[in-house]
Amino acid sequence: MGAAAWLTLLLTHPIEFRTLLQFWLFHEQKRDITSMKEHATSGWDRQTMRRCWEFLDMTSRSFAAVIKEVEGDLARTICMFYLVLRGLDTIEDDMTIPDDVKQPILRSFHKLTVTPGWTYNDCGPKEKDRQLLVEYDKVIEEVNLLDPEYRSIILDITEKMENGMADFAHRAATAGATYIDKIEDYDLYCHYVAGLVGEGLSRLFSASKKEVSWLGTQLEISNSMGLLLQKTNIIRDYREDCDDKRYFWPKEIWGRKEYGFQEMKDMYAPGAEQRGQWVQSEMILDALRHSTDALDYLRLLKNQSVFAFCAIPVTMAIATLDLCFMNPAMFQRNIKIRKAEAASLIMRSTNPRDVADIFRQHCRSIHAKAVPEDPNFLRISVACGKVEQWCEQNFPSFVRMPSTAGNPPTFDSEDARTSILKKSQEIDQTITHRKRMAQLQEKQVAHGDQVKPAPEQPGIPWELFALFGAIFAILLLCILGVVWIVVKFSDSS
Ligand code: MG
Repeated sequence: MGAAAWLTLLLTHPIEFRTLLQFWLFHEQKRDITSMKEHATSGWDRQTMRRCWEFLDMTSRSFAAVIKEVEGDLARTICMFYLVLRGLDTIEDDMTIPDDVKQPILRSFHKLTVTPGWTYNDCGPKEKDRQLLVEYDKVIEEVNLLDPEYRSIILDITEKMENGMADFAHRAATAGATYIDKIEDYDLYCHYVAGLVGEGLSRLFSASKKEVSWLGTQLEISNSMGLLLQKTNIIRDYREDCDDKRYFWPKEIWGRKEYGFQEMKDMYAPGAEQRGQWVQSEMILDALRHSTDALDYLRLLKNQSVFAFCAIPVTMAIATLDLCFMNPAMFQRNIKIRKAEAASLIMRSTNPRDVADIFRQHCRSIHAKAVPEDPNFLRISVACGKVEQWCEQNFPSFVRMPSTAGNPPTFDSEDARTSILKKSQEIDQTITHRKRMAQLQEKQVAHGDQVKPAPEQPGIPWELFALFGAIFAILLLCILGVVWIVVKFSDSS
């Protein structure tokens, strides 16, 4: 941003100016892959790897920064994973390549990725990432230098993805445009292009030992991470994709009778605004069903750099869904969250609790914008409620986190759950104490020592109650006796 842009922002959006300034001043880069001490893991000392890092900057735009921050050789591995899949996607997307040429290239891409010297020069001149394929031999060289375990994961995912992409590309080529009929086809397409990325990344995290070994087997939630991101992009890129004749929205949603659309592109025509918005809200509702899985996934991570790498795109996605919801501008142009909001999300996406808060905040915003006229109104309320429920179950609101690190949490005394928690803590303490005493006694018996009776726990003082009761009864009898005598003598006199 230039000085003029900063000044304009200060005058028009002072709060955003402050956020961006905070980000610029305090958000440090954690790792410099070019420094000498990082060469062993970043590969910056090799010309081919330096070119691969350049390709990452050129092709990934938003992901490059977060990938470079990941610790150790995992950053280089993810970079190579990204470039291989970007190469595959470039061939899939290029409509200038005839289907009969495209099919064999796609279906053998995992083999080509380890064939030294292979390049591809026939992408259309407008294809933005064509240079990556022109110099793909450098990617191949670096993939072959990866740890064999990492390489086999990358190639396995590439093989699964290439076949799925080839099936859909063939369908698009024969139909003249990409059309997806059923919601299950939409889920399958998103699984091929993004869910598999989630699966591959989980397996790479486990292989690196930075995350638990069983993370790589968590296929359902890994898939959901990918689906949430992919579906968000598909919703947001509606207009751009329509203009390119790529219709990823499933007909099962936009083609419902009550919406009255014959073609997906009819939604941006004048007069279709309201019906278009109902379709938009159903698409967003469909994406929201992956949100609690994504939150579950993030809770499993333990490495800070891996957490940031996964959490930042996910919080951007939920903020984007909120931006798109009930926003007619989405049908006319490409809309994006503002720079200051993106900076704020990056700064806040540091732990599962804050990420859950971001989700809750955006789901509340979506819920507040929903209108009862929308046929999806009730289901949207339920979907937002599920996120609320997840947050309350995992991070209950009556537990207040301390503002300073190291201090214990405090509890909201107004909330009934606080007294339940305290009572259960007391019970736990008593049980632990009794168990400890029983263990000690067992030990003493085993050693032949004389068993010392356990010190008695202070209980209810029944003897004291009995004594006071007796004194009270005697006093009562005396008073009654005096009253009886006074009454008797006063009567007789
Ligand atoms: Mg594609």
